Amino acid sequence: MTETVLLNAAWVVPVRPRGTVFEQHSVVIERGRITALLPTKVAQSRFQGVREVNLGHHVLLPGLINMHTHSPMTLLRGYADDRDMQSWLREDIWPLEARFVSPEFVADGSRLAIVEMIRAGTTCFNENYFFPDAIAAAADSAGMRACIGLPIIEMSTAWAETVDDCFARGMQLAESYASHSRLQFSLAPHAPYTVGDPTLERIATYSATQQMPVHMHLLETAWEVQQSLEQYGKSPLERLDANGLLDERLLAVHMTQLESSDIETLAQHHVNIVHCPESNLKLASGICPLVELLEAGINLCIGTDGAASNNDLDLLAEARAAALLAKGISNDATQPDAFTTLEMLTINAAHALGIEDTVGSIEADKAADLVALDLNQARTLPVHDVVSAIIYSAASAQFSDVWVAGRRLMKGGSLCTLDEADVLARAVNWGRRIAAGRTVA
Ligand SMILES: [Zn+2]
Repeated sequence: MTETVLLNAAWVVPVRPRGTVFEQHSVVIERGRITALLPTKVAQSRFQGVREVNLGHHVLLPGLINMHTHSPMTLLRGYADDRDMQSWLREDIWPLEARFVSPEFVADGSRLAIVEMIRAGTTCFNENYFFPDAIAAAADSAGMRACIGLPIIEMSTAWAETVDDCFARGMQLAESYASHSRLQFSLAPHAPYTVGDPTLERIATYSATQQMPVHMHLLETAWEVQQSLEQYGKSPLERLDANGLLDERLLAVHMTQLESSDIETLAQHHVNIVHCPESNLKLASGICPLVELLEAGINLCIGTDGAASNNDLDLLAEARAAALLAKGISNDATQPDAFTTLEMLTINAAHALGIEDTVGSIEADKAADLVALDLNQARTLPVHDVVSAIIYSAASAQFSDVWVAGRRLMKGGSLCTLDEADVLARAVNWGRRIAAGRTVA
């Protein structure tokens, strides 16, 4: 990939510098990296004879980053809805997973998720599920960027029988991709109620020595807080603090049960928070106080969660839900503004993953992780304000083109690295197998 390519678009929103919108600009890509962002006329005279991609009435953005998902759970989409979180997990999801989860299930579910995510303008996802080796392989062959969670849970699963197995297999996997440019790994303890204190302490040690993020469901429901107080005499946050896990590597997912004093603690420790509003609303778990967290200066990101509790992996829709919900519960229509919401989908996520130097904005020397959104459609016209059109009007189906590290993953609405028909056919087949299993059970 040594050729120089110009991507010419009606608008470029580079995210950095903050609030900037360029009109009739070109992003210059060389060897998978962004080398310049210039007015199209200047770029065309400086780079004559190079390949150009004319994106017309599109806006070019940094690729969106889904900061919390369980990709293979796309195969459980719609399997058990309208249930509260603990009943959903214990009576529906865990028994089904015990029956069906295998490397084949994970590979097929991951590819289905990756198809959906690329189509939704996503170039990177922060993952946590069993058989992370199969997810890593799926992400790698599709050309996606990902942070793959190494699952740690104190129950026997098809992936690992014990916590020792979780660590051994996880570390072996991370080492096998040690020099990979698009894949990184996190330690992914499931939740405070499925991981004990000695394991939390061990995770903190590994995280510090390996400089790995810790990706964890935290303060998701009132039940979780109550359970922790009863079993440990401490809140989940107090347990994490006591075990050395409150720091800038923690990716704390959900956080619907926060007290004001917790917010101060999280800000002091530079903890990253991943907001998953649609999953929290659907499972009636609670609401993460986004505006208070923003005011405290906490780094906020957005995730879809798995498709079994959302039920899609549509980050634009998630961001809109996050913004509207925050305005509604804070009685403040000014927060978050559209640009702040866009930051949560891009640069804030890159910062949380420790890859801010590589992705999250359109700047020279960063990887060419870019997405083009077609604004020349009824629901986004006229374009009075580009960022407003992206956050409040656009549908994810308006994404037409996607690049990761300069490689095109979607061209004019067609996927380039996946056999979409095969992925969909396999999903249909899994639907039949799971339905048959339910009938037998
Ligand atoms: Zn989750």
